[in-house]
Amino acid sequence: MDHYAVFGNPIAHSKSPIIHRLFAQQTAQKMSYEPILVPLDDFIEVAKKFLERGLGCNITVPFKEDAFRLADTLTPRSKLAGAVNTLKKLPDGTLLGDNTDGIGLVRDLQHAKVELKDKTILLLGAGGAARGVIQYLLEARPYQLLLANRTVEKANKLVELTQHLGNIAAHAYQELVEPVDIIINATSASLTNQLPPLSKQLIVAGKTICYDMMYSKETTLFNQWAKQHKAGKIIDGLGMLVEQAAESFYLWRGIFPKTDTVLRFVRQQLMTN
Ligand code: NDP
Repeated sequence: MDHYAVFGNPIAHSKSPIIHRLFAQQTAQKMSYEPILVPLDDFIEVAKKFLERGLGCNITVPFKEDAFRLADTLTPRSKLAGAVNTLKKLPDGTLLGDNTDGIGLVRDLQHAKVELKDKTILLLGAGGAARGVIQYLLEARPYQLLLANRTVEKANKLVELTQHLGNIAAHAYQELVEPVDIIINATSASLTNQLPPLSKQLIVAGKTICYDMMYSKETTLFNQWAKQHKAGKIIDGLGMLVEQAAESFYLWRGIFPKTDTVLRFVRQQLMTN
């Protein structure tokens, strides 16, 4: 039996164990996958200990930057993201760090038939999640990618890092008053029941698509705001979660699982718990 795990704090709410167990069942892989609660100052020790016997792990809030530092080698996409959500133990015992958030988001948008090419996309936030998805959003060749963050300097820095990849510019929230095609919320504002200060003029009724990386049983606060202003479509981050997990699973096992049935199961579980 091969062992995998997800590390986080908190971790009890994590859907990753059920997602990976369903992937393993579907693809007949003999593997375990457990959630591990890590004390805030102890990630490196706990991860090293687990990886003596484990073959890989996922890393969630707040340890993605610690995992970035722990990795011996990094995939180009995790280097750019500055954060690692997947570690894989290589045959020589060293650790490869990867970041599957960006591909997870773009695959979920593709499944939802959201066209990115030639669109104006507004990305909210400049933390690990935003950093992880910029490369993939720019690869889809939008007309422009606007980046807004509460701490404007962080958005400016991110633009400096990624402007060679495409048309990206940083803005303060109060500057954003023109309509956009797609808004992606990569802030953690909802965790404190808050909304970034967004102008309703950003939304074109019946057209603008709003995507919240957060998910919950009830419509998320950001998606409630979008609905209230008659966004064309609202999507939450549960599909992204399943897609980024599938990419991690592929990195570890070399098999790409089917995600649609797993997403339906996890959605149903979310709605009934
Ligand atoms: P970070 O802590 O790295 O970044 C948080 C970001 O949110 C920062 O840009 C911060 O701005 C901003 N922010 C926090 N509070 C507010 C507020 N009240 N108003 C405006 N902006 C605010 O978190 P992550 O980037 O790792 O995660 C962001 C979100 O994405 C989380 O909710 C996480 O659950 C979700 N996520 C979902 C995934 C999925 O698969 N569905 C995958 C990864 C993340 P500032 O810089 O000014 O502090």
